[in-house]
Amino acid sequence: MRKLLPGKLVLASHNAGKLREFAGLLAPYGLEVVSAKELGLPEPAETGTTFLENARIKALAATQATGLPALADDSGCEVAALGGAPGVYTADWATQPDGSRDYGPAMERVWREAKANPDRRCAFVATLVLAWPDGHTEGFEGRTEGHWTWPPRGAQGFGFDPIFVPEGESLTYAEMSVEEKARLSHRARAFRALAAACLG
Ligand code: IMP
Repeated sequence: MRKLLPGKLVLASHNAGKLREFAGLLAPYGLEVVSAKELGLPEPAETGTTFLENARIKALAATQATGLPALADDSGCEVAALGGAPGVYTADWATQPDGSRDYGPAMERVWREAKANPDRRCAFVATLVLAWPDGHTEGFEGRTEGHWTWPPRGAQGFGFDPIFVPEGESLTYAEMSVEEKARLSHRARAFRALAAACLG
């Protein structure tokens, strides 16, 4: 397992919600973090069929464009009643004809397609990939089990946060503070595995 040395790290994401969460997770490690968005890097097409493939595509594109180590995440939710959909296509469910993203209709689609099924289980998955300029990569996965709820609740967070309640909790992700979500989120779990293996 390769260690990440102190210095600059590119966060290969344009998603403001994810960037905020990563900034909190990375803060204790003394890394100088810059985002792909700040650097004006293009977003590569996510042509993989797994979270891991898509995270590798994004991390490698960012490290190759900058010559710096890069961290990318690919994530989504798996609704049991929908056979694991939307899964890697979670962001696509929110994409509008003009290319912008709107999660209101995407959450409503989950409700519409899954509501007849009493099985409300839903899991969030995050895969993180660290990539170095020589092409080396390390990947980590985090999962948080829970259930979806309707109607949406809460105004924190992003994406499908307002309809996801982690197992053992009563609040949705969107009703939690950044700190509470970082205790149990899929992204935080993947990050803890990465930190144990590659940081410090
Ligand atoms: P991608 O990883 O950028 O392809 O997009 C994954 C999509 O999954 C995001 O745009 C969100 O809609 C959703 N997603 C991933 N993580 C979270 C989360 O922590 N909360 C809510 N939605 C999430």
